[in-house]
Amino acid sequence: MLDVVLAALRDGAVRRGGPLPAGGPDAVAWNLAPLLAPRALLPDTGDPQALRLLTEALAVSAADPADPSCAAHLHVPPLAVATAADLAASALNASLDSWDQAPGSTSVELAVLRVLAGLVGFDRPESAAGVLTTGGTESNLMGLLLARDAPSTTTGSTNAAAVPHPAYPAHTRPTIHCSAAAHFSVARAAAILGLGADAVVPVDTGPDGAMDPRLLDWALADARTAGRTPLCVVATAGTTDLGAIDPLRSVAAVARRHDVRLHVDAAYGGGVLFSRRLAPLLDGLGQADTIGLDLHKLGWQPIAAGVLLARDASLLAPLEQRVAYLNPEDDEDAGYTSLLGRSLRTTRRADAFKIAVTLRTLGRDGLGALVDRCHDLAREAAARIAALPSLELAAEPVLTTVLFRYLPARADPDRVNAALRRRLLAQGRAVIGRTALGTGPGSVRLKLTLLNPHTTTADLDRLLGLVLAAGVRAERDAEAEAEQEDQETNL
Ligand SMILES: *Cc1c(COP(=O)(O)O)cnc(C)c1O
Repeated sequence: MLDVVLAALRDGAVRRGGPLPAGGPDAVAWNLAPLLAPRALLPDTGDPQALRLLTEALAVSAADPADPSCAAHLHVPPLAVATAADLAASALNASLDSWDQAPGSTSVELAVLRVLAGLVGFDRPESAAGVLTTGGTESNLMGLLLARDAPSTTTGSTNAAAVPHPAYPAHTRPTIHCSAAAHFSVARAAAILGLGADAVVPVDTGPDGAMDPRLLDWALADARTAGRTPLCVVATAGTTDLGAIDPLRSVAAVARRHDVRLHVDAAYGGGVLFSRRLAPLLDGLGQADTIGLDLHKLGWQPIAAGVLLARDASLLAPLEQRVAYLNPEDDEDAGYTSLLGRSLRTTRRADAFKIAVTLRTLGRDGLGALVDRCHDLAREAAARIAALPSLELAAEPVLTTVLFRYLPARADPDRVNAALRRRLLAQGRAVIGRTALGTGPGSVRLKLTLLNPHTTTADLDRLLGLVLAAGVRAERDAEAEAEQEDQETNL
């Protein structure tokens, strides 16, 4: 079956012939339709060819992060060794909720967490704890949940009890403070936790996209003056667009002065810890109470490989669960450690295994070299963009993203940039990102997220060549459309 899958992946990639299937959504749907029709998907009698047929069809219609022109998102080509290790995890099918479903996998997860706790620079890594998550979204939810349900230092009761229902008047409600460029999952987590998405108080960033700790200081003081309870500061180590890193040491000092929990969303930036050259960017990370890391970003793991770390195991207490059929107390006392009480999930696959294999196969230097290479690629791409008169670089890259736009002579730049990106998607020739820098007219930007260490500078030149060519075409179309609109108004 492995041979079947590998051959189908290869054949599918050849038939696709680029980073994604040409023809856009209609062509993809049309090509898959015969295989996905209800009668084809659940026939009365099974089809032994299904693995080959569906795998090849999926490969033909995939966005392939291993193609150097697939550079839109924090979407990595997974390391082959990690993918192979993940197959072992699938085959053994350990479930981390109880020791008797995951004897060795429990030890592997704890060992991986110990290594990562050392890497982030906690003062006493031996007291730290954590859990594997599905990613930054779950890690942020957990970080906020742990802050919400932490025992209050003054009353001993949990904040959960003290948290008024969101229907209470806004001025008494708890607050969460993060930069205006923080990930959207912070606000969603606040909503899920019953705090209301408007519990999130965004702190303005400087032009570099990083939080200004003085503004954070004032916002925390203001919240208290207004009778609200600051629950948590969420710092971002690597924003999704600019890769901006909040000044962690200063932010930690402010949070400590106000006696507020600090969660660091290092989903993107956390991986730079492997690079001796770039790790200093995360100076102060070890001061955090809880940290989210995503090794399916700068860690090149197959999805999912999220991690939540807590400075001290006691911070995870709000997650504790005692279930008669999973982790009875006397089993725990006898040394049968079950990880149920560290996760929001029950059944949970052994995502730490592929990380363990990767750490040992590549070593810190091997992973650091991949991080450095992608950072170098981003800087090289930025230099090329800055040198091209019809492209405008938005900012020097911090991590591995490059924001820029095509500059049309007359046409609306937002319209042209949006159209040029869709043109590349429809051709199946390149997957580049699109985002907004600020709001309103003129905010549309294109984004390269460079996470493929095998990409060469020749690949970058080719990709930028595709962008320029698509830009010229999109500009011409936009001018023609504008002219037609003018004529229609004149009529
Ligand atoms: C990717 C990302 C997230 C979300 O993580 P998922 O793994 O997609 O759940 C959160 N925060 C930041 C800064 C990210 O880059």
